[in-house]
Amino acid sequence: MSGNESRLQAIYEITNREPMPSAAPASLEDLWATDVFNLAKMQERLPKTVFKSVKKTIQSGAALDPSVADTVATAMKDWALSKGAKYYAHVFYPMTNATAEKHDGFISVDSDGVAISELSGKLLVQGEPDGSSFPNGGIRGTFEARGYTGWDPTSPVYIVDTANGATLCIPTVFLSWTGEALDKKVPLLRSIEAMNKSASKLLSLLGHADIAPVNSSCGAEQEYFLVDSNFANSRPDLLLAGRTLFGKAPAKGQQFDDHYFGAIPERVQCFMHDLEERLYRLGIPAKTKHNEVAPGQFEVAPIFESANVASDHQQMMMTLLRKVAQKHGFMCLLHEKPFAGINGSGKHVNWSVGNATQGNLLDPGDTPHDNTQFLLFCGAVIRGVHKYGPLMRSVIATASNDHRLGANEAPPAIMSVYLGSQLEDVFEQIKAGSLTGSQEKGVMDLGVTILPNLTKDAGDRNRTSPFAFTGNRFEFRAVGSSQSVSGPLIALNTMLAESLDWIANRLEAEMSGGKEVSAAALSVLKEVMDEHGNAIFGGDGYSEEWHKMAVEERGLLNLPTTADALPHLQSEPIKDLFSKIGVLSEKELESRYEVYSEQYILAIDVEAKLVAEMAKTKIYPAAIQYLAELSSTIANLKEVGVELDNSQAQTVAGFTQSLMASVKKLSEAAAKEDFGSVAEHMQYCAKTIRPLMDEVRESADALEGEIADEYWPLPTYQEMLFIK
Ligand code: ADP
Ligand code: MG
Repeated sequence: MSGNESRLQAIYEITNREPMPSAAPASLEDLWATDVFNLAKMQERLPKTVFKSVKKTIQSGAALDPSVADTVATAMKDWALSKGAKYYAHVFYPMTNATAEKHDGFISVDSDGVAISELSGKLLVQGEPDGSSFPNGGIRGTFEARGYTGWDPTSPVYIVDTANGATLCIPTVFLSWTGEALDKKVPLLRSIEAMNKSASKLLSLLGHADIAPVNSSCGAEQEYFLVDSNFANSRPDLLLAGRTLFGKAPAKGQQFDDHYFGAIPERVQCFMHDLEERLYRLGIPAKTKHNEVAPGQFEVAPIFESANVASDHQQMMMTLLRKVAQKHGFMCLLHEKPFAGINGSGKHVNWSVGNATQGNLLDPGDTPHDNTQFLLFCGAVIRGVHKYGPLMRSVIATASNDHRLGANEAPPAIMSVYLGSQLEDVFEQIKAGSLTGSQEKGVMDLGVTILPNLTKDAGDRNRTSPFAFTGNRFEFRAVGSSQSVSGPLIALNTMLAESLDWIANRLEAEMSGGKEVSAAALSVLKEVMDEHGNAIFGGDGYSEEWHKMAVEERGLLNLPTTADALPHLQSEPIKDLFSKIGVLSEKELESRYEVYSEQYILAIDVEAKLVAEMAKTKIYPAAIQYLAELSSTIANLKEVGVELDNSQAQTVAGFTQSLMASVKKLSEAAAKEDFGSVAEHMQYCAKTIRPLMDEVRESADALEGEIADEYWPLPTYQEMLFIK
């Protein structure tokens, strides 16, 4: 089949696809958390004392009593057997953005040769996967393989079904034999504990006697693209790199703004409902869904949960998006920039901190100027963003997210914080030394008697800020769509812990000098504003002026690529932060730098090879075939006395030459192996390899616009984006 025959076949099949209904749509009550061994099920199945002990661990972070492990394990196993499970898996979250699973059977054979199902407390609590087979950044050599998984009782176990059986999945941490964290969960749990400690200290200074454990919350809005699998499977770039490395922009893209919140195509709706049913069964509270800005782009957002559980749920969400899409004949693209020239995907991480006794600590109320507690917590965040901006940039640095950041569709690579007009005004008052009032919320009179007046929020939204206050939480908007949310949450919790600690100490000092709480708070906050107010920015983050002002006047760093950002993980302030707060040892931080750098380099290396290969094996042959036809037709016509203009053949020949010349340059450049350091290697990828890939692409995309459609071997942008 020539290029376009297989494309036509794909289109024909897609047009005849039926939306796929789910097995039997059930009510929310019947679905909700049926596949999760949650507190309610534990209460049914555990002796009272054991249940109480586990509940205490889950709700207040108390250490787990080891003597209950056997009882809990047996109850879990019996519940899993009742759901048809024969296997269990320790699930963990290595330093990639992936989820890993170590599978085992419940099977045990007794002395009479009879098979029984068993899960001991020991097997629940500890597992032993190979510690060197996952990225470990030099912590484990291949000859020193021991690594352990350990049960995280605060994240519920759940069942995953396949057509051939069910598995009990147990969320765990992953450590090396030498005790270092090899995963994202250990540091996340540490960061929550550290933040709790500092927040509690501040709350007690503010006069609270009853202080429940403070936790952070996370609600992550996930953007993604759906492409029909017929198309996706014939694009080696989508299969191997998750994004298109070639493709001419279609005549119609997103410029009409007609996709955002538009009607969802029925096939996609069926997919979404199927996805939601599975999420509900797993106790993941998926709430909103809609079309996104780009054609073929969608969003799903669950209701926020505690950071650790939200993070595990986010990982399941990404797995399920891919799996359920496949069932519905789609490929789900979580890549940050699957289509050049079309808006990419992010994951907005909504984050707040609070507890059961004081509530949401980032809720300003109607009159923030007299809410000292809120101002101190918010001030701590502002200080953190200013002091640790490069850390926030580093935890969202990946080869794929680099395509989005700073490209006028997503926040810039400069970290600043948006407060909204009301809070910005309050913090300006603080800077001026006295607090007098808060701007009113306001009401919108719609001028139609039958419509009720709507109340306005105290501040507008700012889509151009990487980190925006949105009423009672901050929204980290620069996080990439394919990322685990743990990295960003670890950074936010850790910098908040350090800032709250600093604020508490300063407040204590001011108060011991005889000041009242509110006066003491005002002077501490004024100090925060004088030192760190430069991080607050309410204007257009996409604008040239901001890029200039941020760097030249405000002293903020603009770190456009991962190669610029990641080396900051090695800087003294960030090393000090992590070791002082006890979230990552120097060795653990070092290993993360190595792993993330390596992933960046590998991602670009794979793409560079793929660009060269696709250019040579797909695009060049198509160009040559077309040229052969053009030139033989021109020659044949000449024989019968018709002189046809050959400029088209020359244009195609010109782009074909430049294509192959660029491929040669790219392949030579990609062969370089000797680098003085990882940082140098990353810079080489960013500054040399990536531009050469773009150069190849430029000729290829030009050819796509010149060659007869019947020769073109790859599904086009318009086909992939618009046919559902
Ligand atoms: P938008 O698209 O307007 O930003 P969405 O409703 O799509 O808003 O998503 C907002 C997200 O913020 C949801 O996941 C929501 O549960 C979450 N959220 C709301 N309150 C908090 C909070 N206190 N802490 C963390 N996340 C929150
Ligand atoms: Mg949002």
